[in-house]
Amino acid sequence: MAHTNDTFRVVLRVSGIVQGVGFRPFVARLAREHGLSGFVKNQSGHVLIELVGTKAALEAFQSELVSRRPAGSFLANVDVKLSPCESPVDNTFVILPSDEGDAGTVMPSPDIAVCADCLSELFTKGDPRYENAFISCTNCGPRYSVIKKIPYDRSRTSMDLFPMCPLCETQYKEPLDRRFHAQTVCCNRCGPTLFYTDRSGMTIKGSDALSAAAAALKQGAIVAVKGIGGYHLACSPHHEESVLALRILKGREQKPFAVMFPSLQHASDHCAITEREAKLLQTPQRPIVLVKRKASPITKAVYGSSRFMGAFLPYTPLHHLLLKETGALVLTSANPSGLPILKDDAEMLAFFNENNKLFGILWNDREIVRRLDDSVAAVVCEKPRLIRRARGYVPFPTALHGFEDGFPSVLCAGAQEKSAFCLAQNGFAYVSAEAGALDTVEAVSAYESAVSDMEQTFQITPALVACDLHPLYEATRYAKNRGLPLVFVQHHFAHIASVMAEHALEGNVLGAAFDGTGYGTDGTIWGGEFVLAIDGQFTRVGHLKPVTLFSSDDSVRQAWKSALCYLFDAGLVDEALSHPYGAHATIIKAALDAKVNTIPSSSMGRAFDAVSSILSVCHESDYDGQSAIELENAAAQYVWETGHEPTPLPYTLEESETGLVADLSPALRALCEEKAKGTPKEELSYRFHLTVCALTLAMFLALRNKTGVNIIALSGGVFQNRLLMELLVPRLEQEGFSVYLNEAYPAGDGCIPLGQAYAALASLKTKEE
Ligand code: ZN
Ligand code: FE
Repeated sequence: MAHTNDTFRVVLRVSGIVQGVGFRPFVARLAREHGLSGFVKNQSGHVLIELVGTKAALEAFQSELVSRRPAGSFLANVDVKLSPCESPVDNTFVILPSDEGDAGTVMPSPDIAVCADCLSELFTKGDPRYENAFISCTNCGPRYSVIKKIPYDRSRTSMDLFPMCPLCETQYKEPLDRRFHAQTVCCNRCGPTLFYTDRSGMTIKGSDALSAAAAALKQGAIVAVKGIGGYHLACSPHHEESVLALRILKGREQKPFAVMFPSLQHASDHCAITEREAKLLQTPQRPIVLVKRKASPITKAVYGSSRFMGAFLPYTPLHHLLLKETGALVLTSANPSGLPILKDDAEMLAFFNENNKLFGILWNDREIVRRLDDSVAAVVCEKPRLIRRARGYVPFPTALHGFEDGFPSVLCAGAQEKSAFCLAQNGFAYVSAEAGALDTVEAVSAYESAVSDMEQTFQITPALVACDLHPLYEATRYAKNRGLPLVFVQHHFAHIASVMAEHALEGNVLGAAFDGTGYGTDGTIWGGEFVLAIDGQFTRVGHLKPVTLFSSDDSVRQAWKSALCYLFDAGLVDEALSHPYGAHATIIKAALDAKVNTIPSSSMGRAFDAVSSILSVCHESDYDGQSAIELENAAAQYVWETGHEPTPLPYTLEESETGLVADLSPALRALCEEKAKGTPKEELSYRFHLTVCALTLAMFLALRNKTGVNIIALSGGVFQNRLLMELLVPRLEQEGFSVYLNEAYPAGDGCIPLGQAYAALASLKTKEE
């Protein structure tokens, strides 16, 4: 074809997650579809694409490069240079070998669930990867969990010990093959081996290992299964005794377990799954999704009092093979209570030797480089939202708009209960996987090595450290020990900043941060906070009235203690004495009066705890947030007849030196009166939710009058209450507010490191100006 004036040349430099996710084969297919000639290749940290063709074809290519990009890819930047072209179009498009060179800013990909093409090969007799538990291709497979170093290349992953057989090597080198440069490629002749070890001391290999594990599970045994980011403990969700034994093994009495179902169809037999939830369940990230339960033969020991089921779908070929034999399985991270998830075979073997409730281990000889728990998500207010961000999402970056150039690299240490940290550089934040609380030596040491691992992997050397104000947080201690310049970011300001970062909110923002505890700028405990952000500067402009609470550690789990303190605060002395834990009331009153071990707290989380105990819904939490979660469940059970719409309880809103103060004590007095009249706790729980909505709405209306700000950000663990969100958000929107919530990060403390990054960088910007 001869060239015309309409022929152009385009050079595209694409950076982001573009290696290890099937990006180059996608580019080649797309170019050929549009009749473009040229080449694509990996070049120091980005993908270089050169194209020749008509302007229309080039424009179509560029827009589809974004809209049809592979699921696992992330385009951080696409640099485009267009010039007229004198050379003829020859209609060939090729994938060229990579340029060796420095790593540049390569972004490693998160782990990706096995794809449909690999699945069909997995179950095709005669395929070289028939029933292969490690089948993968450029579009799927483990990534971040096997990467030792970047750039992403087989020799720098834990697949380095497995030389490719001739077939795999041919496919690996063939640009048109689905396994072209698939670093984790292997087949039945090469790659990792499956093993099963049980109490008898026998170790079985290969497909027999899988059958033996499946047989044990079907008989009700608990079996450890090596996964992507660590080991799981598995058992049948239909055997009550096994589930109870698993609870003892984990040291977890009541927190619901997640269930992996063989397919969406199976999951739908046990849960009422909406279209959006089905979509989320099937994403390549494969999170655990909290969906409504249906009546089902699954034992109550799995979910307890929850109205939800944590459901997820198989994401490794091994899960598909195993669940085909066993049906649904309870799968929970293999970690003794409070400790990080076990990932190494030796760690698991030691655990096995100490715990005879564990019957066998289904393992393999591929090393897990990084610990990654399963992620947890839910669809709330029509959008998928993460509750725990780990496998499948980490280390996907978040762009920090406005902080691209001229800012130092920052390490953000995160919070205490849900430990996570982040590194921010050149306008991107890389947030680590969320792990448990930093309250054991093991957890702190895992946290510290995760920080240095991420610094090494991403080749980021922080020049600044951001951390929480709380002097007793291990993360804060660690931050101080780094010996670098420090920026303190108040906990609830970080919550609001995380929403602003996620949605690239500019200008002024009003926020509500409702959670259990956070250290305030005045040294008291905050947690029911209204915040105003102006040009990245945060101020407390309203809050719940502080109530004097016990400051001892265990009071967070003991809702009844909060209840007694709230009752005394509201002047409800008789109600305190007649409370089921009223025997402690006199001592507590004496301690409050003498101010022994007490601290003022404006926490909304504690208010939910108090109400949960006052209504006798839950007096003591076995896991984080249980009493508030049970209050939500009670409220969700309330069904009223038309004409009897429930109303909020009374509260007051008053101006004070520290901003607008909302007082819930009138609501507590009304609750106690209604309870004495015999009003059911479900109705009162619901009305308490309505009260929090009414108070929040009134507060925002008053703040909008004062400030003229119409954009709202909501964050904090209390906003993981689905009922509250579904009542509150529409009410705010009806009043014309634009409402933003956490989506890609948890509203709980998993969002704190991102918020710290945003707030710390914003404070530098303000200083500069
Ligand atoms: Zn092979
Ligand atoms: Fe928080």
